[in-house]
Amino acid sequence: MAVNASCASCDEPLKNDYLKLDDGSMVQISICPECEGKIKSPQCCGEDMTCLI
Ligand SMILES: [Zn+2]
Repeated sequence: MAVNASCASCDEPLKNDYLKLDDGSMVQISICPECEGKIKSPQCCGEDMTCLI
């Protein structure tokens, strides 16, 4: 899954990254290389979207 989004502060393209949760699962997030801001990936049906199909 690719997320094409820009930082609301810097207008920089966000890079995909992953955040590891305490339970070991991985959540895709988008980070801004400029201000190091992080946003979580969009959610689907109230649940985090993952690579699981
Ligand atoms: Zn930024």
